[in-house]
Amino acid sequence: MDNNFKYLIKLQDIDAKIKDITLFLEKTPSKLDEIDSKIEESFSVVQSHKEKLSQNQKKRRELDSEVEDIKTNIAKLQRQLNDVKTNKEYSYLLKEIEDAKTKVGDLEEEIISEMLASDDIESEIKTAELKAKKDKQSFSKEKEKLIKKSNEMNEEKQNLIKEKAEVEPEIPDDLLNLYQNIYNGNSGIALSPVTDDFCSICQIRIRPQVLNELKEAKKIILCENCGRILYWKDQS
Ligand SMILES: [Zn+2]
Repeated sequence: MDNNFKYLIKLQDIDAKIKDITLFLEKTPSKLDEIDSKIEESFSVVQSHKEKLSQNQKKRRELDSEVEDIKTNIAKLQRQLNDVKTNKEYSYLLKEIEDAKTKVGDLEEEIISEMLASDDIESEIKTAELKAKKDKQSFSKEKEKLIKKSNEMNEEKQNLIKEKAEVEPEIPDDLLNLYQNIYNGNSGIALSPVTDDFCSICQIRIRPQVLNELKEAKKIILCENCGRILYWKDQS
């Protein structure tokens, strides 16, 4: 019976490690995706600033061409001044030229403010590019570490599976079945060491008579409360 406990405890230990590693390995792909999306996010910030700059440049081109059109029109109106016949026509043209010049002034102010904005946007691009570069470096390192760790974990898992295959034949079939059933039904914990007269998993007090039997370790005793296989702590 002593040996049975020894192997059961070993099996429980191996199963717990396999469970932890499996959980870690299952989470790895989504963690890697998360890191990738952080890198993409940094670059998309750069992209959105660049988009803003190209909008600004487009707007400036439009304003420039509008100014050019109005200036061409002003020159045409000024030529027409030479040909007018009436005072009324003359003052009408002058008013039109004046309005056009005012419009050019307004547009040129708008162009200057767009130019100032483009300076700001360009510095935003530089800052965002620098951050994206740094982010890519640090996140890539994080990814490398995670991949390395998961490779190591995978290797460890294979070793544990081999170890498990060596331990299982040492346990009598009926006991192994009992262990498996409790393991599957109790979120992966089938054994509970008894410490200070309590089941260490569910914390229920163990009756003195049962304690004595546990110390003798001659038979399998299940916790009356949580149903796990109990063993006296000194045996671990
Ligand atoms: Zn219990």
